[in-house]
Amino acid sequence: MTDSLDKMGLRFDTVLIANRGEIAVRIQRACNELGLKMVAICSEADRQASYGKAADSFLCIGPSNAAGSYLNRDAILLAAHLTGAGAIHPGYGFLSENATFSEAVEKAGLVFIGPDASSIATMGDKISAKRAMIAAGVPCVPGPDTALPDDAVSVERVAREIGYPVIIKAAGGGGGRGMRVVSEAGELHEAIALTREEARQAFGSPALYMEKFLQHPRHIEIQVLCDIHGNAVWLGHRDCSMQRRHQKVVEEAPSPGISPEAIRPVGLACVEACRQIGYRGVGTFEFLYENGAFYFIEMNTRLQVEHPVTEMTSGIDIVRAQIMVAQGLPLEVRQDDLVCTGHSFECRINAEDPESFLPSAGTISNLALPEGQGIRVDTHIHAGYRVSPYYDSLIAKLIVHAPTRVDAMAKMREALSATRIEGISTNLPLLRALFEDEDFARGETDIHYLEQWLRQRRGQ
Ligand code: ADP
Repeated sequence: MTDSLDKMGLRFDTVLIANRGEIAVRIQRACNELGLKMVAICSEADRQASYGKAADSFLCIGPSNAAGSYLNRDAILLAAHLTGAGAIHPGYGFLSENATFSEAVEKAGLVFIGPDASSIATMGDKISAKRAMIAAGVPCVPGPDTALPDDAVSVERVAREIGYPVIIKAAGGGGGRGMRVVSEAGELHEAIALTREEARQAFGSPALYMEKFLQHPRHIEIQVLCDIHGNAVWLGHRDCSMQRRHQKVVEEAPSPGISPEAIRPVGLACVEACRQIGYRGVGTFEFLYENGAFYFIEMNTRLQVEHPVTEMTSGIDIVRAQIMVAQGLPLEVRQDDLVCTGHSFECRINAEDPESFLPSAGTISNLALPEGQGIRVDTHIHAGYRVSPYYDSLIAKLIVHAPTRVDAMAKMREALSATRIEGISTNLPLLRALFEDEDFARGETDIHYLEQWLRQRRGQ
């Protein structure tokens, strides 16, 4: 840190962006606005990245395979060292929720733009997260906040007490993996054995827990923002129920049909939980919502893909705020001043076949993106860009904002029809059809809706 920074009370003047794609562009925009210098990194497959050319330093840190590059902690720390970066922004995915990485960054004398290692570790273990939430008065899915015992009789008793159907989940699970639904007692022991083995192999810990399986919930989440001075706010709620294989496809804010009075106590409980665990930075509390009740399922201790819909409704630049709290500055916004207005949708545009969902790599030959009031596109692609097969298929996010949900749907329809991405396959046809669907237009569809809709389209 330089003396001049120290005098201003700031902790860094250069940020290394340890990520790629649209989120690297998004973080770069926030750094530019804050007058911070930037270091971009890439793998061999991403050498052409436009954000690399716009950065103050651009380093290729490893091979296309993410294990050797975007997940390579030593290479990232070395890049920060060589370029004089004072902070590392992990984006989402990759190392963003890795407690040992957060710790290694801080040990190297750098700022990790995210929570400290202990918050990440507490919330990364779903059992300890549940325990912390219960302590803060956040409503959770019925089921014990302890790991499943080993003996068959005790396990059967836990399931009976909860009542079938139940879901067995790996404490360290993520990405929609390490879960199994059990609808009757006869299936219980096999489901536990399979999930335990999967948990051991995929997450390095065999710990499991059990909770009630909710049959028709919606996925509702609350965005929080906290500084290191004890200030914490929640920025409203999002509905991310439109999912395929637990992957979100369309998100919106606010969640339709949920009154401010119903959600307010949940938002306040989330803020209280943040205070209790000394949380800093941005975070998201995820809930299932069924029959008018909210049930906490997990917390994401990082920036999320769908943060723009909250930015559009709350007027808060979440990435800018995240960097400012990492600088040690107090929050600029107070809960009482916060007013969310209008309605926002986000569509995830993926490079994939709209029927088979297989990833589609190749060169974008032609590109037209929509423009206009209340329209935002977060992307790293351009005509001539080569979509590589190595990473997530997300290539752009189309976001709209309008006074009402009906207006926002109409704006998204128009924006989708103005979008042209040629040379590769994308899910645009599917998104266009979804925004013509009457049930979706009515709102309040559950987490199974999209898969049922897809099955109907295929005539099954
Ligand atoms: P991950 O960390 O893998 O994303 P989550 O705990 O967030 O796991 O759950 C992912 C998805 O699994 C949820 O969005 C929901 O669709 C489903 N799910 C999880 N827990 C339950 C439950 N108790 N009842 C019904 N569905 C659930």
